[in-house]
Amino acid sequence: MRISEEEYNKLLSNLLETCHKFLPSVDDKLITNAFKFSYESHINDTRASGEPYFYHPLAVAKIVAEEITLDDISVVAALLHDVIEDTEVTYELIKNEFGVTVAEIVEGVTKIGGIFKGYEINQAENYRKLLLSMVRDIRVILVKFADRLHNMRTLHYMRPDKQRRIAKETMEIYAPFASRFGLAKIKWELEDLSFKYLNKEEYNELARKIKDKREEREKYIADFIKPIKTALEEIGLQCEVYGRPKHLYSIYRKMIKRNTVFENIFDLLAIRVIIESTDSNLCYYAVGVINKLYTPVQGKFKDYIIVPKKNNYQSLHNTVINSDGRMIEIQIRTRAMHEVAERGVAAHWKYKESTFTSDKELEEWVNWIRDVFENSSKDDAAKDIISSFQMYLYQEEIYVFTPKGDLLKLPLGATPIDFAYEVHSRVGETCIGAKVNGKIVPLNTELKSGDQVEILTSKNQHPTENWLKFVKTHKAKNNIKKYINHQDDEIIENGKHIWEKKIKKLKLTFSDDEVQKLAAKLRYDSVRFFFKAIGEMEIDLDKVFAPNQAQQEAKSEFQVDKFTSQVRSEVGGIVIDGAKGFEIYYAKCCNPIPGDEIIGFVTITKGVTIHRKDCKNIITLSKTNPDRLISVDWRNVKKNEFIAGISIRGEDNPGILKDISNGITNYENTNIHSINIKTDEGFFTGVITVYVKNLEHLEHLIKRLKKINGLFSAERTQLVN
Ligand code: MN
Repeated sequence: MRISEEEYNKLLSNLLETCHKFLPSVDDKLITNAFKFSYESHINDTRASGEPYFYHPLAVAKIVAEEITLDDISVVAALLHDVIEDTEVTYELIKNEFGVTVAEIVEGVTKIGGIFKGYEINQAENYRKLLLSMVRDIRVILVKFADRLHNMRTLHYMRPDKQRRIAKETMEIYAPFASRFGLAKIKWELEDLSFKYLNKEEYNELARKIKDKREEREKYIADFIKPIKTALEEIGLQCEVYGRPKHLYSIYRKMIKRNTVFENIFDLLAIRVIIESTDSNLCYYAVGVINKLYTPVQGKFKDYIIVPKKNNYQSLHNTVINSDGRMIEIQIRTRAMHEVAERGVAAHWKYKESTFTSDKELEEWVNWIRDVFENSSKDDAAKDIISSFQMYLYQEEIYVFTPKGDLLKLPLGATPIDFAYEVHSRVGETCIGAKVNGKIVPLNTELKSGDQVEILTSKNQHPTENWLKFVKTHKAKNNIKKYINHQDDEIIENGKHIWEKKIKKLKLTFSDDEVQKLAAKLRYDSVRFFFKAIGEMEIDLDKVFAPNQAQQEAKSEFQVDKFTSQVRSEVGGIVIDGAKGFEIYYAKCCNPIPGDEIIGFVTITKGVTIHRKDCKNIITLSKTNPDRLISVDWRNVKKNEFIAGISIRGEDNPGILKDISNGITNYENTNIHSINIKTDEGFFTGVITVYVKNLEHLEHLIKRLKKINGLFSAERTQLVN
């Protein structure tokens, strides 16, 4: 919507005037350009009020200049704060026109909008840190509050259902946040405006009652503060003393809390003494003066100067009794403390002398702010200080959401596995996949602040050594290691059990020494590894004890040896084609296929079993019976007759199985032997066995499978019978 040239010029000069009045230094050209840019970008948009949309960013810019009192950069960013979200304008364009700082603030305001949506603020502290970890520049947050404040001020143009939703969000999220950042003035206004839409009747009634008694109240205040003013002036203390009714919402909250009616709430008035000095001792001095005029209430004095509130609020609170018996609270503070109380972080730029103590959580931040002030010489314009006001806090941590909206803190670089262990070690152990912001990601993906993470689990999943390569938290590392070691312990325990049963059955006795010797003889580094091998069925104890058994068996051993040498001489270790008068078996443990590197093992039944060279079993067998190994090579195979397993993992979506089976059978008429799939919470794992010609054939199939949408791993696997 266009506005007249006259109107345009009037609004622009009004904005510039406001900026000059409140800000330390103003770049007129920059603001004029941003004003034009914002106007033109929003030219086609209209507000719910029917006004040109441009009036909104302009109003936000004025709040930033006048009520938060930041700098001209923030005013520019406020003018542009909605252009990325609502128009065609991009980050790059803003960067080119207004520089990287403005572009980053505008982008930041756009980005954090989402964070405020939808979650209950049950972990305010973590939210604050989440924001700080996402936002490098405090101005992003301040512009966002100004934006919300203007939207709340103009909420009456919205539909009632929208009013309620926005008011609720403001009450639950923005107002507590504003409080956390020390923006008390904005917080009160946000609360009162939300209250107006959330509890219309109560709001109107309270507003009416406060208005009705206005004259009476003003006289009461004047009578009460007059002696204070006089006494303080008499001793030469420069100060402002005033009283005003408390905010509607805080009165309402008191009524609820005390379960009483408006008429019974006495402390409707906030009396303030603002001392025009930086010397905080004068505050205590003023309390002394006041307590001579009015009787102080014992136990009601609060010293937030020595012990400031979490948001750096500093003030003395003193309650006295008026001549009519009413208790009245008086807040006494210096002008600097007052600025901080009303405008929070924005005020820190102006007043460096405030002393911060005790609050451990803010300590770092506060120290840094002090550092900025103390290390900049007096000649530095406030502007330079602000432009270097980057936040280094919390950049080593990230804050991510659980599906329920809880926040978890993790170290930078943390992965879904770290997240899963943070939730519960059981979740970590069975973590098979993760969704980040609704999308499936690999388990080694680095999470970012603000991500929402959902962990997919499967009973069949277990931690692996591989996880240790990318997890970041100690919790995850320790748990994974513990699990792997514990697995070993179980196997070893089981192996020992098998061993003991066996020697008992054979009526043998072994000293520890003898067990050790046997382990060494079988080429195991320790008894532990020996038992582990038994537990993993790598050692067949029947064979170990075979020489000790009947002579007949010794004879058969001899015959096998003889057969082996016969095989060796006949085939010469070259090609096995099944025509040499002995049986060829393909080992079921590793299912070799042409193309694999293989080795033969002569069996007692006068056959040769072909294993893959890297097969675990053949490695064990080669230790116990090295003389029975023969080298073999593949014959020329033409038929698809070798069986191979492919393990797959993916998203359980309709049609994916069809894609998988088509992917296989459409290639060289490959036959599927079996498909074995388990699904678990939107996820599946399984093994497909196929008939292939050779390794190349299998590798082609795997490549094809990997291209299927929703399938995120396919690899050759050993088959278990
Ligand atoms: Mn806006």
